[in-house]
Formats: sequence, structure tokens, C-alpha cells
Amino acid sequence: MAECLFCKIAAGEIPAEKVKEADDWIAFRDISPQAPTHILIIPREHIATLNDIEVGKEALLGKLFLAAKQIAGEEGIAESGYRAVVNCNADAGQAVFHIHMHLLGGREMGWPPG
Ligand code: 5GP
Ligand code: ZN
Repeated sequence: MAECLFCKIAAGEIPAEKVKEADDWIAFRDISPQAPTHILIIPREHIATLNDIEVGKEALLGKLFLAAKQIAGEEGIAESGYRAVVNCNADAGQAVFHIHMHLLGGREMGWPPG
């Protein structure tokens, strides 16, 4: 999508601190980190929200979880713990409408989230 911030980051048109990438996803550090480790994992394909995922995308979405596991290990937070979060629409505070998984760790987190 031409006007999507995360599509532009995925295409390398807007700079980001890239952590890891594969053919169909990319992971980069959040510009406003909410924890010592705060990484966003996104599919290269533009999917606006969790409401827009479709049958057939299971493998792609599963790869985001595998990426989270792998990156958590590399960031040294796998054993201490981390959170993988997907915000959907207004009540969850979604601000960028290209689906993304937040990988947060490196500190204790409260539950329930605010
Ligand atoms: P959401 O609220 O949509 O779940 O999360 C969007 C996230 O994207 C926020 O945590 C925000 O800090 C991050 N973000 C917004 N703009 C940029 C940007 O230009 N670069 C990077 N790396 N992160 C961004
Ligand atoms: Zn997009």
C-alpha cells in the first residue's frame, strides 16, 4: 500500500533499525520503546488489522510467532519472559494499520494491560 508507513519500512523507503528479516516478514525496533526490548514484527504483505486476516494466511502468521521466539532468544529474554502483542483497532490503541506483533521484554510487566 502506497501510503502505509510499515509497507514503506518493509520496502526500505523509510529507515528503521532492522533486527532480522526473511522473505515474507521483517522485524525492527520500535521508535518509542516501552520496554528494554521492544521490537515490531510485521509481514511484508499489507494486512491492516487482525480483523482482516484470512484463511490461507496461517503459515505467514505462524512465521511471526516463530520469529518472535527466535528473536526473544537472541535478545536474551526467552527465559526471563516476554510478551507478544497484536493490538486491533481503537480500543486496543492500534495506531498503525499494518498488522504487527509487538515483542516486549527485559522488564516485569503488569497484568491486565492498561
Ligand atoms: P500500535 O499502537 O499500532 O499497536 O503500535 C504502533 C507502534 O509503531 C508504536 O509502538 C509506535 O511507537 C511504532 N512506530 C510508529 N511509527 C514508527 C516508525 O516510524 N518507526 C518505528 N520503528 N516504529 C514506529
Ligand atoms: Zn502496509
